[in-house]
Amino acid sequence: MSSGIVKLLPGTRRNVSLAPYTTFKIGGEATYFYIAKSSEDIIYALTVARSLELPFFILAGGSNLLVSDKGFYGLVIKTENCKLKIENSFVYAEAGALMETLVKETGKKGLAGFEWAGGLPGSVGGAVRGNAGAFGGEIKDTIVSATVVDEKGKKKILTQKQCKFSYRNSQMKQKNWTILSSTFHLKKGNKKNIQAEAQEHIQYRKERHPLEYPNAGSMFKNCDVQKFSKKLQKELQDVVKQDPFPVVPTAYLLAEAKLKGCSVGKAEVSTKHPNYIVNKGGATAKDVARLVEKIKKVIKKKFSIDLEQEVQSVV
Ligand SMILES: Cc1cc2nc3c(=O)[nH]c(=O)nc-3n(C[C@H](O)[C@H](O)[C@H](O)COP(=O)(O)OP(=O)(O)OC[C@H]3O[C@@H](n4cnc5c(N)ncnc54)[C@H](O)[C@@H]3O)c2cc1C
Repeated sequence: MSSGIVKLLPGTRRNVSLAPYTTFKIGGEATYFYIAKSSEDIIYALTVARSLELPFFILAGGSNLLVSDKGFYGLVIKTENCKLKIENSFVYAEAGALMETLVKETGKKGLAGFEWAGGLPGSVGGAVRGNAGAFGGEIKDTIVSATVVDEKGKKKILTQKQCKFSYRNSQMKQKNWTILSSTFHLKKGNKKNIQAEAQEHIQYRKERHPLEYPNAGSMFKNCDVQKFSKKLQKELQDVVKQDPFPVVPTAYLLAEAKLKGCSVGKAEVSTKHPNYIVNKGGATAKDVARLVEKIKKVIKKKFSIDLEQEVQSVV
């Protein structure tokens, strides 16, 4: 298999540690690792994986991942296709382009619509797949279409509606389709205000989030207020926020349950923002997984609610 894939997909490397490619700095090796510099490279790599019946995994910014200590058996395709084109109010971005670049470049042109993404790590592909959102905005608000490769290797263009976006979810996520690029439609606005708003969000994150330690962002989704008992809904009404529907922030629940600073091995519930698990140096995926289970148990007992993991586990 090894020589076969290297011949078919030149540039493929064997036994590559995935930890440096994730913001958590956790994870074992990928059996095969290939960097796709263009959308054509991605399509071809997918074809090769399919022809060899090899499992594949698309890795982008690695900012929403918990990779197993055992790594990934199969082909990891790292997306580095990053063309970006802005014409009038339309933005065309390849999946590997960074959200940071999108925010910066659209801000410079006085285009409004990505202010919410100031400080959001990761790529366009990762953000589209998970319908990333923050500060009241979401990918689904400005996206017009996405070009994807489906499970049969067929390339197709999906409209916003066909992407079936919901809270941190999409059709692409449900079906494990690969996103090659996306087009967005923004609104003309005041350049200074747009840039200032994005900058405010970047600053907010620096102050409130534990960016000094490796992490993967919010470990759990926020909790739909409707899922709490009527009694708790009343008790928690002052902390409910729109995200984009009424939710109880999971960080609040964890703080109330006195989970700040709770740790397993080198994985710790951040004292700064308890919905973040931080890697205090050398944490393993097993440490994180055990801490996640512990948190879920405590929250279930205290609030009768099941926490849902937001970070994607890669096994
Ligand atoms: C400090 C910090 C703060 C964060 N804040 C937020 C926040 O406010 N809101 C929010 O929504 N998220 C947040 N996140 C999570 C993360 O940044 C987003 O989920 C981001 O969109 C993931 O993009 P990525 O490129 O890093 O994807 P990766 O982590 O590389 O991948 C995530 C998933 O997307 C898939 N994927 C990636 N690219 C493609 C593609 N081209 N086609 C198909 N599938 C693909 C991967 O296979 C994987 O399943 C935060 C993370 C960190 C570390």
